[in-house]
Amino acid sequence: MITQEQVDRILRLNGNGLPLVSLYVPADPPQGTGRRAFSTRVASLLDRIRPLAENGSLDRAARLSLREDIARIEKFLEEEPQRPGAAAVFCCSGRDIYEEVWLPRRTRERVVVDADPYVRPLLGVLDEYYRTCAVVVHKGVGQVWECYLDQVRELEVIRDRVLRKHDYADGYAEYRVRNKADELSKRHYRRLVAELKQLFAGGGYDLLAVGGVAHEVPVFVDFLTRDLKDRLVGTFAIDRESATPADVRQKVQEVVSEYDHQEQRRLVGEILEAKAARKRAAVGLDETLWAASLAAIQTLTVDDEAVVPGVVCDRDGLLARSGKTCPLCGEPLREVPDVVDELTETVIDDGGEVRHIEVETDLRPHQVGALLRFALPPQPTEGSQGSQESQGSQGSQGAEGPEGSQGS
Ligand SMILES: [Zn+2]
Repeated sequence: MITQEQVDRILRLNGNGLPLVSLYVPADPPQGTGRRAFSTRVASLLDRIRPLAENGSLDRAARLSLREDIARIEKFLEEEPQRPGAAAVFCCSGRDIYEEVWLPRRTRERVVVDADPYVRPLLGVLDEYYRTCAVVVHKGVGQVWECYLDQVRELEVIRDRVLRKHDYADGYAEYRVRNKADELSKRHYRRLVAELKQLFAGGGYDLLAVGGVAHEVPVFVDFLTRDLKDRLVGTFAIDRESATPADVRQKVQEVVSEYDHQEQRRLVGEILEAKAARKRAAVGLDETLWAASLAAIQTLTVDDEAVVPGVVCDRDGLLARSGKTCPLCGEPLREVPDVVDELTETVIDDGGEVRHIEVETDLRPHQVGALLRFALPPQPTEGSQGSQESQGSQGSQGAEGPEGSQGS
């Protein structure tokens, strides 16, 4: 799985005059039928760029690099993946660049040859995952962990001198020992906090979690500055001396997933409220597909279980549940097995964000919803472009589109 370090490295890639290949291949685990689906997909994507490597407008160095890229990608992606998701490869052999990452969600298949890496689908998928910094405090030792996707790694350990039992021995009066101990752990906590501040200032992390023994955690949390407290999503009990990285990962994932579910409910609530208040929001497939067709979606929410067949216009990207011809341009529409998948890809391409909703919310019957960048114009219905009369004078505003089929 991908790490933040790798993402940062990919963002900085550059072919320096040579073409850089970015390739995305979605994968479904093999299920008897469609066996070699993945490698077939890879091969057909590479076929699209082969002509560039053989002849054409590129110079010799560029063609050689590209030819090697194709051979390299073919070789690395020979194996059928065993879990759903997507593989992304960034490659420029002439500059000795090869980055392969596995994404936890599917993306649209795509190959791009350019001077820069094509990262939007990558960022679109990763947008959904929090980067968490976890700190485990324990008697003068602070362990700082990074948790991202299903990985955990130790970033650093900060050790400070604290008084142990044998330091108490002779000489010190009890109260002086206590003061001294408090002072040392205060110093340690301040140092840890300064370190965390620096990590968060770098923009590398979204969330903070604090673990340790029950009596120490709240004391440390009190030392957090306000900006760090804002990022704190939870605390967990853990024994630093016996805990393995897998234990840390599990504890942090519990805290983060609890927070994530709250956020999902909050976002759905925000969309439904905005919709009820006739603000810029879309609820339900028809309206949301129409919004995506117009690049109006800022934040899309998709119920995790939603899969619906539909149609797309290859000319202008119109999405709909059904129809024969595009209401925007009149071209015939192409049928797709899952228009929700097309919807998420469209939103990512247009620079919006996508949130999958795993928890049961009021969104489920509607399947999808969105916060919008602008109010939608009325949705044209097939065969009657703009010919719809608004009947009567009941003051019904057309801002939500006439297609508003209530409840589904
Ligand atoms: Zn069209």
